[in-house]
Amino acid sequence: MKRRVYIAYTGGTIGMRKGSDGWHPAPGLLKELMAAIAELHHPTMPDYEVHEYQQLVDSANMCPKDWWHIALDIAAHHEAYDGFVVLHGTDTMAFTASALSFLLEGLRKPVILTGSQIPLSEPRTDARENLVTAIQIAGSIEVPEVCLYFGDKLLRGCRSVKVDAEGFDAFASPNLPPLATVGVEIDVDRELLCPLPDSPLHVALHHPASIGTLRLFPGLSAALVRNLLQPPMQGLILEGYGVGNAPNNDAPFLEAIAEATARGVVIVDRTQCLRGGVKLGDYATGAGLARAGVVSGYDMTLEAATTKLYWLLAQKLPTDEVRRRMQRDERGELSRPTEQGGRRWRLRKMVV
Ligand code: ASP
Repeated sequence: MKRRVYIAYTGGTIGMRKGSDGWHPAPGLLKELMAAIAELHHPTMPDYEVHEYQQLVDSANMCPKDWWHIALDIAAHHEAYDGFVVLHGTDTMAFTASALSFLLEGLRKPVILTGSQIPLSEPRTDARENLVTAIQIAGSIEVPEVCLYFGDKLLRGCRSVKVDAEGFDAFASPNLPPLATVGVEIDVDRELLCPLPDSPLHVALHHPASIGTLRLFPGLSAALVRNLLQPPMQGLILEGYGVGNAPNNDAPFLEAIAEATARGVVIVDRTQCLRGGVKLGDYATGAGLARAGVVSGYDMTLEAATTKLYWLLAQKLPTDEVRRRMQRDERGELSRPTEQGGRRWRLRKMVV
């Protein structure tokens, strides 16, 4: 029996047309162009069905409610198809890939996000390769997780970041090697894949939450931090220097943080660096944050940390439980230093 892939088409450059104010999604265009791609109808390819969303969007317009709708769409078709492709704009693709990883609890089939930097209608498009390979992977490889396929690499969704605004190799997974690389063969690193879940597929409820992100910079005023952390703020991803450090010679800054965490604001530290993670015990400047009630986000990307925080806050868990789970590996999104010394990460790191 031919395998079947469900394609959720949400928008993005891949199906855009140029108008007077720049590129914008063009309803109907992508399906028409796909029908004319011979590779997609090759006998070795799975059958596919494109579900074009009623409101196609530039992914800069995506919000948490949209992630939830995509998750529900996949859950509704989970039994009927062998795999899923989500066609999406590249701008916030890593956020959606991360959010879907958390929302789709108990996922047993591949969900592959892809898109392109140049529309499928253009001669030098990168869409054709991304599309054909994403459909092939979704229909033929047992990867029970949310992934992002772009520029020859299959990345874990909740480890991916957009690193290039213009190049075809636009995404990276700075703290985990690719799950697969694509050349003559599709070479999957099975050791890295998440195990099959033992619970049935379940999509968590959506509740809007007030969260923020703050990248530290020299001279940041304590008053600004205090204002930012006022209600209704429920959680903050703080991007510290290096292994997550912050000034420990600025008492009003640390007081603003400590007051907020005492009120129940969840503050999670991550590093501003592209690679590596937080070790709050390494420096006195990190220990100050820990004493103020900040918890470690280890080596999570900003995309994984923010979407995980949204997901946990939506479940209305007690604050301590949210803090505990932000530090726990839920979907392969973080690795923690080993107990001995904390210099080596548990998961194999990418050597560049
Ligand atoms: N602005 C576009 C989007 O994210 C960019 C792209 O798809 O490459 O929808």
